[in-house]
Amino acid sequence: MQSPSIAENLAALRARITSLSRFGQHVTLIAVSKTKSTEAVMEALSCGQMAFGENRVQEAAAKFPPLRATHPELDLHLIGPLQTNKAREAVQLFDMIETLDRPRLIDALAAAAEREGRLPRLLVQINIGDEPQKSGIPRAEADRFIQDCRARFGDSLAGLMAIPPLGLDPMPYFRELVARADQHGLPVRSIGMSGDFEAAIEAGATQVRVGSAIFGSR
Ligand SMILES: *Cc1c(COP(=O)(O)O)cnc(C)c1O
Repeated sequence: MQSPSIAENLAALRARITSLSRFGQHVTLIAVSKTKSTEAVMEALSCGQMAFGENRVQEAAAKFPPLRATHPELDLHLIGPLQTNKAREAVQLFDMIETLDRPRLIDALAAAAEREGRLPRLLVQINIGDEPQKSGIPRAEADRFIQDCRARFGDSLAGLMAIPPLGLDPMPYFRELVARADQHGLPVRSIGMSGDFEAAIEAGATQVRVGSAIFGSR
């Protein structure tokens, strides 16, 4: 049996997202195109998909700038860890950086934004399961860090992002992320991937980051 096309996957996902969203809840689908070809991205673009997620600056830099020329509505998200020495390139390239997770990155991004005259929208990534191997600001430091980011970036700090621990029920983690966003008055909640986006929408996601359910396995 032939596997479904990118167009079919996108159509099915959009229908599912619409059916799960509650009144007044707008959920943006971020198509995670890491490791996938420019051709795959172009196929999604031709279906009207404009928001994409990449987890490496170099890979995004190779794929996306030529596509911007033809698709000015393109909305590119960095969803992987950012090294301070790549801050300037990231500020040039991305519309949203979802992985602001440590104080040194605040300074690096502020300096890069100053030089570039451009500041992407920003999300704080919280290490919502306090897992040692995962990036994200530790839970205990998150409130203070969010306040520092807000003081530095104002409304460009748009919300919070998290990846719950693998193999556990993600719902309590999603709910905590949404509660913290509420508490800080932050509108964007980036939670949910191919395997758990339905639970994330139920918890109050405003952005889901879906890769394999669109482009196939990596
Ligand atoms: C790869 C990745 C995704 C998408 O994962 P899928 O399971 O393929 O949907 C979402 N978020 C982040 C941070 C990722 O690195």
